[in-house]
Amino acid sequence: MAKVWIAALALVGAVASTAAAQDAKTVISSASRAMGVDGLNSIHYYGVGAIGNLGQNNNANQPWPLTAANDYVRAIDFAQPASRATWATYAIPVTGGAAALAQGTPQTQQLITPQNTAWGQQLEIWITPWGFLKGAAANSATVRPQTVNGKRYQAVTFNAPLKSPGGQPYRVVGYINGDNMVERVQTWLEHPIFGDMLVEADYLNYRDNYGLKYPARIIQKRAGWPTFEAFILGAHANPANLQALMTPPAAGGRGGGGAAAGAPAAAGQAGAPAAPAAYSEQLAPGVFRIGQKPAAGTYSALAIEFADHILLYEPGPQSLARAEAIIAEARRAIPNKPIRYGVISHHHADHTGGIAAVAAEGITIVTPEVNRAYLVNALSAPRTLAPDALAKSKRKPLVEGFKGDRRVFQDATRTFEVHVVQGLPHADGNVIGYLPKERILIYADMFNLPPAGTPVPNPPVVGSGVFADNIERLKLNVDRIISVHALDQQNDGRMTSVKEIRASLGRK
Ligand SMILES: [Zn+2]
Repeated sequence: MAKVWIAALALVGAVASTAAAQDAKTVISSASRAMGVDGLNSIHYYGVGAIGNLGQNNNANQPWPLTAANDYVRAIDFAQPASRATWATYAIPVTGGAAALAQGTPQTQQLITPQNTAWGQQLEIWITPWGFLKGAAANSATVRPQTVNGKRYQAVTFNAPLKSPGGQPYRVVGYINGDNMVERVQTWLEHPIFGDMLVEADYLNYRDNYGLKYPARIIQKRAGWPTFEAFILGAHANPANLQALMTPPAAGGRGGGGAAAGAPAAAGQAGAPAAPAAYSEQLAPGVFRIGQKPAAGTYSALAIEFADHILLYEPGPQSLARAEAIIAEARRAIPNKPIRYGVISHHHADHTGGIAAVAAEGITIVTPEVNRAYLVNALSAPRTLAPDALAKSKRKPLVEGFKGDRRVFQDATRTFEVHVVQGLPHADGNVIGYLPKERILIYADMFNLPPAGTPVPNPPVVGSGVFADNIERLKLNVDRIISVHALDQQNDGRMTSVKEIRASLGRK
């Protein structure tokens, strides 16, 4: 589907003639009149929605997981332009446990000011039906008739005044139907994993409020799956209380202070430390844990020396810069050998935020087959908005999707076993790495160890139980266990043991 729309865009871009510009003016003014956008300076709408967590699906081939966004309210001031959205959510924490209500937190609001020039934020204004028509009227749009799934549209295209990190203008394409309603708007946003990521929003079931047309249904998708869905219950043109709607609660109020909340725009943008300083510690001859200083928020990787190459476990977490630092540190610790394999723990965005840098090095990314197509598609997308090391390398990504529940790397000097974890809710195709001779094991996203002396939780932590069960099932003989996530923020090198994990579960 994404490919069809990219092709459609190329066609639209090819006909930027004067005649098309004239036609575009007519199409835009007809739609603006029909939708009540003439004289519209601001809007307020509300309903019930859901937010999809980009890059964090439990299976790489399934939709992003949705979290309810109840009491969803958005106001847009087109004159500034600025926008504020708030919602409430009642959800189970990712680590398990009882569901909790979240409201007024950075995760349940979005404030876009004119100073927020990131397209990831601004696009939330310009891809709305009304913002799109205003943007098209102000930015020399062109038009081309287009048939999509047998339905005729006028496809209107304009370039936003904002430029991408690579200097490209951000393109916006809107599909106007026979009733002069904006039915779909698309744009492209740079993303470290998905490259030039398609962001598209469908606007369906239009209703009328004193001449203002608004869609009762909104579905926004990023990288193919919904990242926002809503049933809009009502909308008002030029609300009298605009100022109040646009103003976050005063500092000291819950979640106030006007911080530019990232959700949903920043969802899935892996944390990107500015200048990560990687270091390594030798755990056994030719086996290095690569950490980062300062340790807070760090992800560990493992570099393993073979006779004629290096293998990395968790080669591309967090960001491109972090992946590059891990690769450089592996080369420093084990000089004069190529890095041939990079085994990812699982496909989640925070564990693959730098995977493009790994592909750029010609390292074969190894993962269970369930994750292969997802990674190949992501790493094969155009990367023109923010050309990164992968775009510059012009390399085809190498991804090995292994079948079955294990992949063993072995030569005369070393054995490293990769096992697919069974029974884990967090992610399908999550693997642990095991060095049988060195009795070292590495894992990600199954559990965090509670502080010493914490009573055994009831019910027990699911991930810890799954972990202990898999160690038993595979009969692994382990002395040292490394978590990709720091077990202790003061000491990112802290390791754990089977005994400690079993004790946290109240098992002998
Ligand atoms: Zn994860």
